[in-house]
Amino acid sequence: MNYLSTRGHPDRKRFCEILLEGLAPDGGLYLPEHYPQVDTAMLAKWRELPYAELAFEILSLYIDDIPPADLKAICAKTYTPEIFGSEEIVPLRELEDGVYLEALSNGPTLAFKDMAMQLLGNLFEYELARRGAELNILGATSGDTGSAAEYAMRGKKGVRVFMTSPDGRMSPFQQAQMFSLQDENIHNIAVTGVFDDCQDIVKAVSNDLAFKRKYRIGTVNSINWARLLAQVVYYFAGYFQATAGNDKPVSFTVPSGNFGNVCAGHVARMMGLPIQTLVVATNENDVLDEFFRTGIYRVRAAADTHETSSPSMDISKASNFERFVFDLVGRDAGKLRSLFVDDLGREGRFDLSGTPAFAQAAERFGFKSSRSTHADRLAVIRDTDKRFATLVDPHTADGLKAAREHLVLGVPMVVLETALPIKFAATLVEALGHEPARPARFEGIEALPKRVVKLPADAEAVKAYIAQNCD
Ligand SMILES: *Cc1c(COP(=O)(O)O)cnc(C)c1O
Repeated sequence: MNYLSTRGHPDRKRFCEILLEGLAPDGGLYLPEHYPQVDTAMLAKWRELPYAELAFEILSLYIDDIPPADLKAICAKTYTPEIFGSEEIVPLRELEDGVYLEALSNGPTLAFKDMAMQLLGNLFEYELARRGAELNILGATSGDTGSAAEYAMRGKKGVRVFMTSPDGRMSPFQQAQMFSLQDENIHNIAVTGVFDDCQDIVKAVSNDLAFKRKYRIGTVNSINWARLLAQVVYYFAGYFQATAGNDKPVSFTVPSGNFGNVCAGHVARMMGLPIQTLVVATNENDVLDEFFRTGIYRVRAAADTHETSSPSMDISKASNFERFVFDLVGRDAGKLRSLFVDDLGREGRFDLSGTPAFAQAAERFGFKSSRSTHADRLAVIRDTDKRFATLVDPHTADGLKAAREHLVLGVPMVVLETALPIKFAATLVEALGHEPARPARFEGIEALPKRVVKLPADAEAVKAYIAQNCD
């Protein structure tokens, strides 16, 4: 399998070449040259497989530069009941008639990002050992990504993590999750500033090519293809659990921010998994909902990006969206460039309204969308508690609201649960008047010793810190 750039660069790469890379050299995103197809015989066979083996089968279609026995061992080591809390790894439960919740948040940091990041940690360690190389991961987080990356990379050979976060802006639980890690290869950097300052620092350091090369700086952000690929697997696992041996279609609703999670659903659907509809659920930051309703994609300025009670979906632009639009415009890299480089670069928006391409987003690719507000979130949390004695986190609540708006009789609707409620306890308290239960292993983490340095919002200070801690 070869990978291409959405912006038309002539080079073709193999999986392990793009594994440790971010953007393609022309600023595009990597995608496979084609989507491998599944048929009913394959689906019937895969239905019976444990999660780790299902992951191996799917990854094998996209990875041909890791020997199969090694890849199988990596999957087996990643997707275990010890790490993900159950034999099924992603158990599905029916909430009400036709509406299901797929549990993706029982990994080490209690958000679905563990599903991909745990695999990434093992792939990185494997590939770096094979090359005899090292990597220093520099990231910016407002919560879930940073902790998932740290728990995936802790103790891994050849990898250090330097994770910046806005000082004092994460929830106490999220802070404790990250700062209580005592592993030598994990560095928490609390930046005096906001999340955008952290992102600017990461950009500035990455743009210093001499520094980047000297200190082998890499990232694990959501545009990484391996992360997206890992997420494709749980669409298959959810599908198998929602259908009992027939090949009837299923729909998915996905709480969305950077469009990574739902893009994995798009890939699964392109492979031939019988997915009827992919519902994109957004919060008040409705860049994506606006596109799927109107055909206009308009990125927001920092000042127009709202701080909401589903903060992991607070985005001004959706970094993986370009992958879907590439398919939407028939994989025409020239057209893609005119949208993302010319229109978006110049005017901060592009407009596909009234075009045949836009009509295909729903008709051919099965996309729909919804938007929710803080009040919706609280109402869904209360209602789900009252009727089903189930607590959902605010992002999953956004998903449930959207799912009900697009429910079709006879088509199971699977809502992807993106985090456990304890991560966002303040909103649960606001909705219900009490804190959600916390898994035993997180009892008292706020009181543990913290390993974190505080630095000013200055790329030079972060560079100096990295240099000091690499030898
Ligand atoms: C990351 C995250 C999202 C958004 O996922 P994308 O892949 O960026 O669309 C939603 N909910 C939670 C809890 C998250 O951590």
